[in-house]
Amino acid sequence: MTHTDLTTHTLRARLEETFPTFVQTLIDLIAIPSVSSLPQHSQDLDRSAQYVQQLFSDIGLEARIESVTTPEGVVGKPAVLARSPHIEGAPTVLLYAHHDVQPTGDPQRWSLEPFTAEVRGDRLYGRGSSDDGAGIVVHLGALNLLARDLPVNVIVFIEGEEELGSPTFDTFLHTYADELRADVIIVTDSDNWKVGEPALTTTLRGNCCCTLEVTVSEHAVHSGMFGGPMVDATTCASLLISSFYDEAGNVRIKGLGGSDKADVDWPEEEFRAAAGILEGVQLAGTGDLAARVWTKPSITVIGWDTTSVAEASNTIAPKTRLRLSMRTVPGIEPEKAMEALRAHIETHMPFGAHVTISDVECGPGYQADLEAPAVELAHRALTEAWSVPSVNIGVGGSIPFISQFQSEFPEAQVLVMGVEDPLTNAHSEDESQSLSDLKHAILAEALILRDLAHKP
Ligand SMILES: [Zn+2]
Repeated sequence: MTHTDLTTHTLRARLEETFPTFVQTLIDLIAIPSVSSLPQHSQDLDRSAQYVQQLFSDIGLEARIESVTTPEGVVGKPAVLARSPHIEGAPTVLLYAHHDVQPTGDPQRWSLEPFTAEVRGDRLYGRGSSDDGAGIVVHLGALNLLARDLPVNVIVFIEGEEELGSPTFDTFLHTYADELRADVIIVTDSDNWKVGEPALTTTLRGNCCCTLEVTVSEHAVHSGMFGGPMVDATTCASLLISSFYDEAGNVRIKGLGGSDKADVDWPEEEFRAAAGILEGVQLAGTGDLAARVWTKPSITVIGWDTTSVAEASNTIAPKTRLRLSMRTVPGIEPEKAMEALRAHIETHMPFGAHVTISDVECGPGYQADLEAPAVELAHRALTEAWSVPSVNIGVGGSIPFISQFQSEFPEAQVLVMGVEDPLTNAHSEDESQSLSDLKHAILAEALILRDLAHKP
């Protein structure tokens, strides 16, 4: 059989037969407590790398374990690299997931032993069941379904330090650039829109953090003697912050960009419940709620040094320090957004208070090319696998390694797919994976790999 007559029907039938073994593989993965942030689990991390290497070599890939050390001396965790037998002239696809997991936190808050998987209804529970054990199993399952009919070149890259923020990722990409270079990169470490509703993650906001120091006088003075004409530094900083917003609560700083429209409707009650917002407290901003989280900017005060209530006296504070976190619009360079914020601050400082901006840290966002053939093909595959239309979703936070892939391999089309859903509880207690979505995701990825042979 060649890939041209490998029908979706055939793949579905193969999946029905083999799916229980993939569930068992996921159960075995959960049993290895590969917590990358805890030194006492470093042998478990080695064991999980070895187990993953074995999984891919058992289905005919040449698999090995590699790690790198950065120029600054940061020693990387073990990653698995595996490649399929080379097909001359066929496109190359890089499949990414990670085998490390988050710590469990307080085990009392779990309703099961975190590293002993339990199936309850449609869901498999356990640490790493979804993030990102399911991501590994999607790649494994898709390759297994296609088996000898695999029509593309595949490189599998299963990282061991994603939950640490991928500290040696850049060095790894540089070191193995020739091997990792691909036409399409498939990442299975994001969300679906809902249980039973597939999605591609096509936008991520970027992030810029900075520290402001606001100063009004050389020293503290008595508020009774000077208060009135003289405004304290904390109030000046507060007035500055209020200048960031228009009356509807949109960030009004010029040059930050943003889009009011989203592909999906995020019900306000769900958003409020998830965030625990109190009754009567209104949501800020205008436009679709999902757009306000995914494709419009936000600014949050994440730290503030000022006189504590315990130490309060009748004194006008001469200076205050605060840290801002600005989420930037996908497709806008965070450094440019930072310049816009800086210009706003310098022209809107109340009463001419002095301000310095320091410790600027920026991380890029991500904007998929929605016209890219691989993106269209992926939506078709997801829609076919689930029999439910696939939508574009965003993530309000950033996934730094996605932009690192993009900057190292600017020619590659990146597809960010989901295994998680709103019930997953990744990074928290009672993490779980929908088994029906796992099955659909395996089929979808097999369809993508099958069809990419014709349309790189
Ligand atoms: Zn993850």
